[in-house]
Amino acid sequence: MKIVRSKSEFQQTRSRLQGVVGLVPTMGALHEGHLSLIRQAKQEADQVVVTIFINPLQFGEGEDYETYPRTPEVDLEKAQSAGADVVWLPEVHDLYEQKQTLMIDVGELGEELCGKNRPGHFNGMATVVMKFLQIIRPDRAYFGQKDAQQLAIIKQMATDFLINTTIVGGPTVRDHDGLALSSRNQYLTEQERKDAPGLYQTLKKGVAELKENNSRKDVLKRVTDALSNMEASVEYVELKAFPTLQASTNELPGGEYVIAAAIRYSKARLIDNIIFTVE
Ligand code: AMP
Repeated sequence: MKIVRSKSEFQQTRSRLQGVVGLVPTMGALHEGHLSLIRQAKQEADQVVVTIFINPLQFGEGEDYETYPRTPEVDLEKAQSAGADVVWLPEVHDLYEQKQTLMIDVGELGEELCGKNRPGHFNGMATVVMKFLQIIRPDRAYFGQKDAQQLAIIKQMATDFLINTTIVGGPTVRDHDGLALSSRNQYLTEQERKDAPGLYQTLKKGVAELKENNSRKDVLKRVTDALSNMEASVEYVELKAFPTLQASTNELPGGEYVIAAAIRYSKARLIDNIIFTVE
């Protein structure tokens, strides 16, 4: 596995990569969720490039840019064991040589769900992903369904900008009790960690009820009530068509949907979702 740091070093390495190139962009602090994407990429591509980059542009004021967990040495070992061929760890100046003047504007897609509480987040995320797609020119790029809104936005960006990369979604990897793995789970206190699996269990119940044709409004209310009984505060619970993120009607016509929620503990903000099909 090749480890590269500067942009020019990466570009030299890229020019030597042959065959189908798969990209897995990450912010590091790698866990099984990231590793499953790397393994999936390895099955479908000849060369897997993993990026580890904490993108300042997608962090808002008061968010955890400074304190986001940084564990590069362990990350490199994990990436190698999952089958990465190249790991690129750029510095901020490699991607932002000068002040960023233009940004990708993800429009309405970035105002919904997490966008309501994280203004500018998805524009910053899409801007750095666009940079990676330009420099790395992958045939396939892998994103977790854990961040369903991110996946939906990147799919739309690739379509709208005629990007020659297939955007692939990977399933959410969970702990034994259902809690979605996240680098931010380490912000949970012991008590909160015990409480947190309730998020997924509640969403799962909601999906079961929706599939039994219960009204969307009633189900969302029950889900919200159940989440309110947890030890966290509820930021949102929403049901959207996936991947368009269009608002859903009360009776759901057949198709793909995502039920998504965000809750806030003392330090950790957790998000989770389930993507499901209505026949
Ligand atoms: P991050 O490092 O949090 O930016 O995540 C990098 C990639 O890993 C994103 O595409 C995430 O959606 C994905 N990811 C994060 N957590 C999980 C998980 N539990 N299961 C699957 N993919 C995940």
